[in-house]
Amino acid sequence: MPNEGLRTTGLTVRYGGLVANSEVDLHVEPGEIVGLIGPNGAGKTTFVDAVTGFTQAEGRVELAGQRIDALAPHLRRRRGLTRTWQSGELFGNLTVAQNIEVAASPGGFRAVLRDLFGRRRGSLREVVGRALRTVGLDGIEDTVTRDLSLGRQKLVGVARALAGTCEVVLLDEPAAGLDSQESGEFADRVREIARGGLGVLLIDHDMSLVLGVCDRVYVMEFGKIIFTGTPAEARTDPDVIAAYLGVPMESTHA
Ligand code: ATP
Repeated sequence: MPNEGLRTTGLTVRYGGLVANSEVDLHVEPGEIVGLIGPNGAGKTTFVDAVTGFTQAEGRVELAGQRIDALAPHLRRRRGLTRTWQSGELFGNLTVAQNIEVAASPGGFRAVLRDLFGRRRGSLREVVGRALRTVGLDGIEDTVTRDLSLGRQKLVGVARALAGTCEVVLLDEPAAGLDSQESGEFADRVREIARGGLGVLLIDHDMSLVLGVCDRVYVMEFGKIIFTGTPAEARTDPDVIAAYLGVPMESTHA
């Protein structure tokens, strides 16, 4: 379905003399889980920043067949392109529900405060509940976010990205800080998200997670895509192995 999902063509980001992304062509179809992997500093987060409008880029970004590269970040979000942040962007002193409502409410933070006892509370609460169920966290709506484990905070970040309109979600290192059991459970959640028809771009250094859950992977090195194919093909590709300094892919866990 060439007209749906997310598609970048010739996406290029320059930081002074450094070309952090070079002519990146990448697509994520609805319902597809796509991995973006590469060594530290390869340009993966830069790609997420460029696609979502948080850094300036040249080239095309299309969502559901429409160009969005001239839009501000919040308008891309409103079209259904959502992301998580590596460092976690949650407000530790707010409840889980409040953190998610801020993202789900079209009016943002001020509208949530204004609406604390308003008519939209019911529907927002439902959106929060649905988003939390999708990541397997039921019943923690009123927990203060900083009281959660790091793993759970990461999942709240994912729930927050899923709340409201969402066509394609970009997950930037969502498994960092999760133990192997949590990471396995997270993989199940990602599959469920994609089964619901969302496109997922997964960036992570946990190779068993990425190669285990993705339908296709892209490998980036020095800002360029050096490989695209199935996880099985990635495991044996000489360029991919060279990018990971000859370390067998299964044991790579940066
Ligand atoms: P990691 O796996 O460590 O998160 P990454 O693949 O996400 O790395 P980026 O963070 O996108 O890589 O960085 C790509 C390159 O761009 C690096 O050389 C980095 O130092 C540089 N870079 C990133 N952000 C900026 C910025 N705002 N200004 C200048 N250079 C930047």
